Amino acid sequence: GRIVKGTSKTREKLGVIEELFTYWNLDDADETLEELEDALIMSDFGPRTAFKIVDGIRDKVLAGQLKTGDQIRAELKQSIAALLAERGGSAELALPDSKPAVLLIVGVNGGGKTTTIGKLAHRFGAEGGAKVVLGAGDTFRAAAAEQLEEWARRAGADIVRADSDKARPDTVLYQAVDAAVRGGADLVLCDTSGRLHTNWSLMDELAKCKRSIAKRLDGAPHEVLLVLDGTTGLNMLNQAKEFNETVQLTGIILTKLDGTARGGAVVSVVDELGVPVKFVGVGEGVQDLQPFQPATFVDALFP
Ligand code: GDP
Repeated sequence: GRIVKGTSKTREKLGVIEELFTYWNLDDADETLEELEDALIMSDFGPRTAFKIVDGIRDKVLAGQLKTGDQIRAELKQSIAALLAERGGSAELALPDSKPAVLLIVGVNGGGKTTTIGKLAHRFGAEGGAKVVLGAGDTFRAAAAEQLEEWARRAGADIVRADSDKARPDTVLYQAVDAAVRGGADLVLCDTSGRLHTNWSLMDELAKCKRSIAKRLDGAPHEVLLVLDGTTGLNMLNQAKEFNETVQLTGIILTKLDGTARGGAVVSVVDELGVPVKFVGVGEGVQDLQPFQPATFVDALFP
């Protein structure tokens, strides 16, 4: 359709959708619904998810239940929020009754993994009173352990780091869980490498880490959370699929929503993988982590 050409930023593209609502043409509902579908695809929702959402709206338009642009706008928001809740499931962390709970945190470098671990440590440790252990499983990036150590200090958490240059990530995480079990800790947050590099398989390494954690503690890790950069667009779907195949994700943390990013692509990630967003990152500070709420997220998409 004519409306999808020429814009590149998600925000502008979503602006196009706003225009559609304003000038909604019920005389040619088919054409307008197609334009809505195109606009959603161009706004990083992905074809499958856009099709699904618009199909539901089309049914109601044809049944005469939706008549104005405002009604369709409300229905669009409501159906995206419902999809996030129904396909994703609970945004609560699924933690075991016995301790420690172990969270494995994965994601590509730069997405905000380390920062997110710091925020989680603060939330459950400094604020929640839990005894937290951080496992510095990113042994490949020199500064990673130092950065994590700084967060541990701020959050009052313990940290288990590599004891030599040659220490392997799966060994470090085994030791972190071991220390938590022996020390009666409540929560272990396992950092991992996110280095994308040829001749080295990040995915093999992560699979090893997961097995190593399970070897030390039956049933662990209890959550495998993928940190996604909210500014990355539909690219995040491919990332999420790849991580999901290897380590079976149980949730997503969407970062950097404090900037211009709206993270619309995460709707397709939730839809296609069937895993929920559990938290959103809204800044670089220790407090800048919020439980995910579909309605709030959709309000930010279509303010
Ligand atoms: P990692 O490589 O995945 O561990 O990523 P880092 O945790 O080191 O974060 C990469 C950069 O993103 C750092 O400059 C962080 O301060 C920043 N960052 C992380 N989360 C957020 C967020 O929610 N909002 C903003 N604005 N910046 C973030």
